[in-house]
Amino acid sequence: MIIRHNENYKWDNIPILAYKEDTTCFKNITRQVLLDGAPELPCQLRYFEIAPGGYSTLEQHEHVHFVVIFRGGGKALLGKEVYDVQEKDVIEIPSFAWHQFQATFDSPLGFLCLVNIERDRPRLPTEEDLNLLRQDSDIAAFIKS
Ligand code: MN
Repeated sequence: MIIRHNENYKWDNIPILAYKEDTTCFKNITRQVLLDGAPELPCQLRYFEIAPGGYSTLEQHEHVHFVVIFRGGGKALLGKEVYDVQEKDVIEIPSFAWHQFQATFDSPLGFLCLVNIERDRPRLPTEEDLNLLRQDSDIAAFIKS
């Protein structure tokens, strides 16, 4: 099977979905499910795109993400550090690491993300979690919640 890239980071017959169904705190993100698992590989490969100035939910969970930055650049909170990220960077988000992605203000941030189909729901930070995260000044300046 081949899923042809059509144009402008859209693929043939793949709908562009809302990032999440819920109303957690995020801004300007779309989701495309490119591959939806096989019996021998029960994973999903998704493409997310964050518009300039947008960001993903600040969250943690037991399941792991493998991420490849595919378009543009931005910043990411990964665990206890904020990183600049750019095309072709490869990222592992371990179990229960706090994470959030933000696009720069002048370009979108697109990334491929591999996850298990069976996975726990993301957990949002409590006030206490936020206070702990904000003890680091770089993280305090970065996070949106
Ligand atoms: Mn996540």
